[in-house]
Amino acid sequence: MLTALRRTRRALVTTHKHPDVDGISSALALGWGLKRFGAEVQVVSPGGVPHEAAFLPGVESLVPSPSGRFDTAIFVDCPSMERAGLEPGAVAGAIRLNIDHHETNALYGDVNYVRPSMAASAQLVLRLLMALGLAVNPQVATWLLAGLYGDTQGLRTASTDLRALRDATALVEAGADAAVVARGIFGSLLHGQLRLWGRVLAGVEECNGITWATIDRAAWAEAGVPEGEDGGLANFLLGTQGTAVAALFQESSDGRVRVSLRSNPGVDVAAVAARFGGGGHRQAAGCTLEMSLEEARGAVIASLKRALHESRRGVTAG
Ligand code: 5GP
Ligand code: MN
Repeated sequence: MLTALRRTRRALVTTHKHPDVDGISSALALGWGLKRFGAEVQVVSPGGVPHEAAFLPGVESLVPSPSGRFDTAIFVDCPSMERAGLEPGAVAGAIRLNIDHHETNALYGDVNYVRPSMAASAQLVLRLLMALGLAVNPQVATWLLAGLYGDTQGLRTASTDLRALRDATALVEAGADAAVVARGIFGSLLHGQLRLWGRVLAGVEECNGITWATIDRAAWAEAGVPEGEDGGLANFLLGTQGTAVAALFQESSDGRVRVSLRSNPGVDVAAVAARFGGGGHRQAAGCTLEMSLEEARGAVIASLKRALHESRRGVTAG
């Protein structure tokens, strides 16, 4: 991986479609590192930058689609080629580097640096930059801390281990602005999203440790929020007492249903999402179903019940 990074002359750096702060920050930081080695770099975020990531310094340098040819295509925080929102021919002939921490990563790169035990892809990029002998400056440190905060909800998720805490410390020591990061990650909810939450939470359901809510098409329209921008509602659902698993069902205008899953340790929601063609992490995963809202809810809740039942059996047996 290090040799491939050093050899790059014209690099495309990208992340998954509908990117999050970890993906965008990691791509920006890696792009910075490659430029230090004299490479020409395009950092591409297909579909643009979501408003949650707009606070990151330097996001205006991202482009929505690649142009020209590349010797190296680097995917960060992207579990599969399908999730990478690029046109199939966009990276033809380029060496593919896959840098990711998703449990369900498809190892699609010519070189893969995939560590599911890591809380954020930003931590992998930090290690690569250090191994390349580059000292991160305050802006790069701020990006990487933002990625780590984004994926750990401010160092609060079960994935927040000693390494994550140490990396956060190292990034603050390198000049990361923790206040800007915290405000950026936790201060970006729109009023429309707040109204959406109000409406959706009024219909929240709960059964035996599973908590779920639904955003149908009418809810998006009435709140005036772009489809898919739920503001992290699934995480909020998991934060309720007695909840072991949370699910958020989102109806989109193409008739498909996007499902966000969250769990406390013990239940592997990546495995549940994978059963429906999706993936993610053990404690945070998602999938998209081609069925009605009602069918999707029925199928996913049944699968979650089984997973929860198995985990509880495992606990009592063990
Ligand atoms: P979210 O619920 O926030 O959209 O996604 C949670 C996690 O699951 C993220 O790490 C995301 O990349 C992953 N994820 C969500 N949907 C899919 C999917 O359809 N396929 C795969 N492979 N991963 C997904
Ligand atoms: Mn990530």
